Amino acid sequence: MDTASLTGKDLAAAINADTTARAKALTERAGRAPRLALVVANEDPASAWYVNSLKKSAANRGIDCDTVDLGADASADTLRTELSVRSADPETDAIMLQTPLPAGVTLDDVSAAIAATKDVDGVSPLSLGLLAAGSAGFAPATAEAVVELLKHHGVALEGRHVAVVGRSNVVGKPLAHLLLAENATVTVCHSRTTNLPAVTAAADVVVAAAGRIGLVTGANVREGAVVIDVGTNESSDGKIVGDVDAESVRGIAGGLSPVPGGVGPVTTALLMRHVVLAAERPR
Ligand code: NAP
Repeated sequence: MDTASLTGKDLAAAINADTTARAKALTERAGRAPRLALVVANEDPASAWYVNSLKKSAANRGIDCDTVDLGADASADTLRTELSVRSADPETDAIMLQTPLPAGVTLDDVSAAIAATKDVDGVSPLSLGLLAAGSAGFAPATAEAVVELLKHHGVALEGRHVAVVGRSNVVGKPLAHLLLAENATVTVCHSRTTNLPAVTAAADVVVAAAGRIGLVTGANVREGAVVIDVGTNESSDGKIVGDVDAESVRGIAGGLSPVPGGVGPVTTALLMRHVVLAAERPR
C-alpha cells in the first residue's frame, strides 16, 4: 500500500496567511501590534532554539513578541508574579510559558497564574477544564495541530477508533478531548498500558505522543491506518526524529505524518493564530 505523507507545511502556510492578515487589521485598528509575552526560565539549548523560531514566526506575522527571561534559577513565586502581572497588563494580549522550568518548579506550580483568556498554549488548569467541559478556551496548540492536520488531509474521525499514545496535560489528554468533540472513539494509552501493540493495531488512527523513539512500528499498526507522529526526539546522531519507526510503517499505513514537517509547523502556526484570537477578544 502507498503511504501518503501527511505534511503540515501547506496547512501551516494557509493558517499563517490568515493570521498575518488579521494581525495587520488589528494593528491598524488598535494602533499597536498584537503582543505575546514569552516567559522563559531556563538555559536549555533546545528551548533557546524554539524560542528563537517562535520570535521569528511572530515577527513574520506582524506580532510583537516580548521575551521575558527570568533566569534558570527563578523561583515558583517569581514566575507566578510575572505571569500574574502579564495577565493583568492590558498591553499584553497573550502569554506563553516556555519549558523546561527551573529545577524543582513544575507547570502545576505556576500555570494557574496565567489568565485563561491569554493562555494561548492552553496550559493552565482552567484551560484544560474548559476543554474537558467542551467550553470555549484555548487548547494546547500541539493537540489542536493533530486534529487540524487530520482534517486537512481528509481523515474522517466521526465514529472511528483513535489510539492516542501519551497522556500528558499538554498533548495526550487535551487531544483526547478534542477527538471526542469530533465524535471519535478514543483510547488513551500510557506507560502502564498492557499490550500497547494490540491497542494500536486495533485503531483506525494512531497518534504517537510519548517521546520514545521507535515506539510505534509497522508491526503494531493495521493495514491502511493513519499514523500521526507528534514525537520530537533527538537521535544519537543529533537528528530530530519522531516516535514512529517510519520505515517499517511505510507500505502498511494509509498515511503518516513526517518528523520534521508534520505536526510541528502546524503547532507554531496555531500558536500565532491563538495570539491574534486573544488580541481580537473584546475587552
Ligand atoms: P511527556 O510529558 O513526557 O509525556 C509522555 C507520555 O507518554 C506520558 O503520558 C507517558 O506515560 C507516555 N509514555 C512514555 N513512554 C511510553 C511507553 N513506552 N508506552 C506508552 N506510553 C508511554 O511528553 P509530552 O510533553 O506529552 O510530549 C510527547 C512528545 O511530543 C515528545 O516527544 C515531545 O517532544 C513531543 N512534542 C511535540 C510537539 C510538536 O509541536 N511537534 C509539541 C509538544 C511535544 P505516563 O503518563 O504513564 O508516564
